[in-house]
Amino acid sequence: MLLLVHAAVAHGQSDRSILSNVDPFRQLDEILPTPNAQRTASGAPGPGYWQQRVDYTIDVVLDDARQRLRGSERITYYNRSPDTLRYLWVQLDANIYAPDSDAALTATAPQLKKLSFGSLERLMARRVFDGSVKITAVRGADGRSLPHTIVKTMMRIDLPRPLRSGESTVVQIDWNYQINNSRLVPGRTGYEYFERDNNYIYEIAQWFPRLAAYTDYAGWQHKQFLGAGEFTLEFGNYLVRITAPADHIVAATGVLMNPEQVLSEQQRARLEEARQAAKPVFIVTPEEAKANEQSRSDKTKTWVFKADRVRDFAFASSRKFIWDAQGHHVGGNRVLAMSFYPNEGEPLWSRYSTHAIIHTLNVYSRYTFRFPYPVAISVNGPVGGMEYPMICFNGPRPHPDGTYSKRTKYGLISVIIHEVGHNFFPMIVNSDERQWTWMDEGLNTFLQYLAEQEWEEGYPSRRGEPKWIVGYMQSHRQVPIMTNSDSILQFGNNAYAKPATALNILRETILGRELFDFAFKEYARRWQFKRPTPADFFRTMEDASGVDLDWFWRGWFYRTDPVDLAIKKVTLYNVESGNPEIDKPRRKQEREAQPETLSERRNRALPKRVDRFPELKDFYNQFDELDVTDADRKAFQRMVKRLRPKERKLLETKQNFYVVALENVGGLVMPVILQLEFTDGSQEELRIPAEIWRRNAQHVAKLIITPKSIRRIVLDPHLETGDVDRSNNVFPPEPVKSRFKLFKERRGLNTMQRMKVAPTRPQATEAKK
Ligand SMILES: [Zn+2]
Repeated sequence: MLLLVHAAVAHGQSDRSILSNVDPFRQLDEILPTPNAQRTASGAPGPGYWQQRVDYTIDVVLDDARQRLRGSERITYYNRSPDTLRYLWVQLDANIYAPDSDAALTATAPQLKKLSFGSLERLMARRVFDGSVKITAVRGADGRSLPHTIVKTMMRIDLPRPLRSGESTVVQIDWNYQINNSRLVPGRTGYEYFERDNNYIYEIAQWFPRLAAYTDYAGWQHKQFLGAGEFTLEFGNYLVRITAPADHIVAATGVLMNPEQVLSEQQRARLEEARQAAKPVFIVTPEEAKANEQSRSDKTKTWVFKADRVRDFAFASSRKFIWDAQGHHVGGNRVLAMSFYPNEGEPLWSRYSTHAIIHTLNVYSRYTFRFPYPVAISVNGPVGGMEYPMICFNGPRPHPDGTYSKRTKYGLISVIIHEVGHNFFPMIVNSDERQWTWMDEGLNTFLQYLAEQEWEEGYPSRRGEPKWIVGYMQSHRQVPIMTNSDSILQFGNNAYAKPATALNILRETILGRELFDFAFKEYARRWQFKRPTPADFFRTMEDASGVDLDWFWRGWFYRTDPVDLAIKKVTLYNVESGNPEIDKPRRKQEREAQPETLSERRNRALPKRVDRFPELKDFYNQFDELDVTDADRKAFQRMVKRLRPKERKLLETKQNFYVVALENVGGLVMPVILQLEFTDGSQEELRIPAEIWRRNAQHVAKLIITPKSIRRIVLDPHLETGDVDRSNNVFPPEPVKSRFKLFKERRGLNTMQRMKVAPTRPQATEAKK
């Protein structure tokens, strides 16, 4: 089934035609992987669950004069799988910056009708820049060279002897590469050059040869790095020694182990003060950072960082950094929240960054698990928004004059919440980003929305509310959320907005906050520091909530249909009393109320034969079938006599029986939420689970019994389902209200007018006679 979906996608069609006959409530068992000892049917890690462990000791030198990185690393690989491994696969992400990388070669032509100078400059730079990794040595523990084969962004290292289950081995790699200029060759890592003061900010990520993941569900994850699919890695402990110019400030994943060697006495004192402070405290003030910009040290310092139980390591380094920090308790864990940014980020960064970090840790910890790490860092530099364990890079800055737009302000707070939030997904709940973007971005964007709404009332969030997804759900060229990262169309809408919206709907409308929050927390608890797959998420959410959600995953994650429910027709029924004295006069009235047809009206004036010959008239010309007869009365009395008192009462009921016919126009089954407005001014809400569609996914009818008269019915009155067409949600239908703008017609100047050319008249020729 999954294959069918993907085949349709490959041809750029919607999957609707292929899957349209599938029962939307059919269980997903045939699509999901079979449960096993590693992953149970309940969505939890099983008794046989295992994952590898990789520890790193890295020495790296940042060459500020040539913008190069030179490193040497010692990897300890623990084989905890049941398998024997003869080789290891290592990721060389920087090879994406080779001019002939798959990412460069498979990039398709841009729209060339109109191109900015910047875009052209980047196109040209990408052709010549070579940021690929130069591997200078690959050795075993004994120092002897190991055979290795580079396959584009991956490298296979052949082990001297097979690595059996439970054993560990050591590999050492030396390497260096040219750092990319983010302005010309943008990415998730790079440097920014400041011409005014001749300084650099380095944000360094995906920078060292990293062990690829080896998993129970896919073996080696060595799918080539094409740019969109990020990565997945193994947990382990890191010791990293970063040698940078002595006047640089370095921020990194982990805890700084040698503050005495790299920080001044005053900086160390301020750091101590910050740990207890109620507000962010400057470790390096804006004035000091400004002064540092003029410094040019030819000495170096080595910053030593230690990070345990992380899946990656990133750092930033610059002379320009202002540094603020504030200690914070997250449910008993002491965390130092820190921000690093140049004066170009002010006054926004000192006001919002560290606050946004702490806010994120609080809200996310409440919905998942307690943030476990000792630091959480936000850095301003060239990268727009990217996450790594304990550290993230965030781009927004004010204008050079210090003013900023509303968009920049909230863009900054939102991106910090988002990137700090990624500590939870995927840095701790270690999903496979190279395969599934939604598993970290979708879940994270959902929590980002919750955190934003707790920042201030009316926070201008961009994703999360069902009504905001309508445009995307109506759009063409869509693929299901369950699509490989590098094949996704409309990336942000598909992998961020749609899953975030779906989860919000699941929380507010399908499960309710209490059930959802319990199940979501259970998913996070089960899979923290482990490696979940989509099935583990789907199964856990059902397992912990006690609600069958297969239809929901199928509709929202495996298909592309939009939600569009409609009220087709409303029919009012009442019980016929059977009493001729009541029923017959009523039917007479109804008959009289029938409109006269056109022919009836025109024929009325025609002379009739029976009027000319009255002898043609008989009994039937006088008798009205709706006159009450004695026979009618007797029949009714006989009928009533046979009824039991209870039945007689039912016969007299004055209830109204409304049959509301509903149509599923969009295809995605959803709960039916009806707001009933009655003629007496009162209101009632009817919330019907999606299972109403289980026998017929296109047409259903709902009976509403009420003594009141319905004046109006609104479907999805609180905009909670993402219904893409609301014009069919109201009974009786109402005009769709809109406005058009008037404008004054204006004619542009023609070329003669613009050039101020005087019109000339043709020479009159003499008329000939
Ligand atoms: Zn993200």
